[in-house]
Amino acid sequence: MTIHTISETQHTIDRLFDLQQAHAVKLRKSPATARINLLKRLLEWIMTHQEDIRKAIHADFKKPYTEIDISEIFVVTSEINHTIKHLSSWMKPKKVPTPLTMLGSTSYVHYEPKGVCLIISPWNYPFNLALGPLVSALAAGNTAIIKPSEMTPHTSALLRRLVAEVFDEQVVAVVEGEVEAAQLLLQKPFDHIFFTGSPAVGKIIMRAAAEHLSSVTLELGGKSPAVIDQRVDFKDAASKLVWGKFVNCGQTCIAPDYVLVHASAKKELIDALKSTIEVMYNPAGKGVQASPDYARIVNTKHLNRLSSMLQDAVDKGAVIESGGVIDVAENYFEPTIISGVTEEMELMQEEIFGPILPIMEYQALDEAVDYINKHPKPLALYSFSKSDDFNKQVIAHTSSGGAVANDCVLHFLQTELPFGGVNNSGIGKAHGYYGFLAFSNEKAVMKQRIGLTASKPLYPPYGAVAKKV
Ligand code: NAD
Repeated sequence: MTIHTISETQHTIDRLFDLQQAHAVKLRKSPATARINLLKRLLEWIMTHQEDIRKAIHADFKKPYTEIDISEIFVVTSEINHTIKHLSSWMKPKKVPTPLTMLGSTSYVHYEPKGVCLIISPWNYPFNLALGPLVSALAAGNTAIIKPSEMTPHTSALLRRLVAEVFDEQVVAVVEGEVEAAQLLLQKPFDHIFFTGSPAVGKIIMRAAAEHLSSVTLELGGKSPAVIDQRVDFKDAASKLVWGKFVNCGQTCIAPDYVLVHASAKKELIDALKSTIEVMYNPAGKGVQASPDYARIVNTKHLNRLSSMLQDAVDKGAVIESGGVIDVAENYFEPTIISGVTEEMELMQEEIFGPILPIMEYQALDEAVDYINKHPKPLALYSFSKSDDFNKQVIAHTSSGGAVANDCVLHFLQTELPFGGVNNSGIGKAHGYYGFLAFSNEKAVMKQRIGLTASKPLYPPYGAVAKKV
């Protein structure tokens, strides 16, 4: 990455913002075909540069190629294909019914691009979370500046190259840099800010947005619980939980953060989790560290944060059921299952965002539901049971951005569903049609006939009106 001084970055931001602001006005009437062309160009670049994409993300935190193919490349290409297929119908003005009192008029919702948008993305899915929102921004007819995470520099450089080769900078540009670059960008009056990252930084973004009354989509994180009934298929639940937790080395916003299991099912669940880890990550018996299918922690700072979290839990009486091995030289953190966990432990107070799965037990479902409801609303909630009624109760009695019965993480890939959090885990929704809406102003348009108005009886002088009321 080329190092730029703050004044150079400021100059670049000023220039790009002015350029995009002038162009955004021209894009207001851009037809679906023009937007689809941009998306097709993006798709083509991705399809012809898959090896470059894999190498860049792998260089950042040794993410396995298969995981890159599924959770970075496929997620973006499927978002593009879905959008291309449906964009014309999403863009069509939506006629609304006319009430009797408005007879003679017609009304519709017109989907207008918001204008110049800022996309700030995190490091954990550095490709997917920068480009997914871009697809929606372009579909809705906007221009965009992307600020990727400074923690994944190889992917950031690749994104800069991609954007330079595919788009004119008056339509899309990348501004690389540390937090200061994001802070400079946030001083600009963007029409919309789409932020993905932590709740703490989400608050900073929202404060900055308030200065210009920019609208925001905040895709944040939090502690997503998995509630496990005693009437469960242990093998099935364990395989879904182990994949959902340890894919990307646990650095997934919707990973099951912790498990709440019925006390009578705890032992069987832990045994199933342990043997599933062996099957998935240690098939050759040489240890998980030797597996090509297990990523690394993004940097030493996060490795140290996780290891001190684990130490704190052990010091306070928790038991490591499996894992716990750390290799600082490699940023390696073994998949770890830990029981005997209490609320006071650090790992139950903040999002873990790493490969530690705490197991807490409950005696009655109300206890589990109360525990979830006492804490900030999670981004995702998972419920595992053979009983539909159990799953329905868990989902109906708690609040979360999304919820899945008998699986986890997979709802991210369901392009027909809105994706996002609620309060502490996020504001606004993304993906597919909902992403298009996030970047659109739903303009209310009413057409009246000349000489006709429903408000005529309400005109002053009010004497006559008063008699009618
Ligand atoms: P982060 O909040 O530290 O950083 C995200 C982005 O914000 C980066 O580009 C960073 O440069 C920028 N940033 C950091 N501090 C800033 C500041 N003071 N002012 C302006 N910009 C600033 O998040 P992260 O560590 O990159 O990602 C992890 C978090 O993101 C977790 O909480 C995770 O749950 C969440 N996340 C959410 C989703 C989702 O879709 N809801 C997806 C992935 C990650």
